[in-house]
Amino acid sequence: MSARSREERSHLSQNRSNPIRINEAFVCHQCGFSVEPVASGTCRDHCPRCLWGQHVDRETPGDRLSACRGELEPVAVEYGSADRLVIHFRCIRCRVRRRNRAARDDDPDLLVELTGCPLPRSD
Ligand SMILES: [Zn+2]
Ligand SMILES: [Zn+2]
Repeated sequence: MSARSREERSHLSQNRSNPIRINEAFVCHQCGFSVEPVASGTCRDHCPRCLWGQHVDRETPGDRLSACRGELEPVAVEYGSADRLVIHFRCIRCRVRRRNRAARDDDPDLLVELTGCPLPRSD
């Protein structure tokens, strides 16, 4: 085996064991906005314009293993660590709850509106 193909192989297996980071463009099912990948390196998991997401991850953010594919409704926003906003979602299909950090370009008016909403109970 050449040094080059060995290198490629180790590169592949490394990718597999790393935490998954999918940062892809998508069209929002809720408002039709064409969402660009986020520039700052975090996973883009919701629409910056209407804040709706999609239930695509099962356990790990970015694993894309969920078969649900229901829409995630933004239900509340709270301040997380270091004053980063955290958005609470609820899947309108299977009712699962999700939390994700807000992205820099999320609609600020919507975020402020949702900080006034009661947080979903953690039952
Ligand atoms: Zn949207
Ligand atoms: Zn779901």
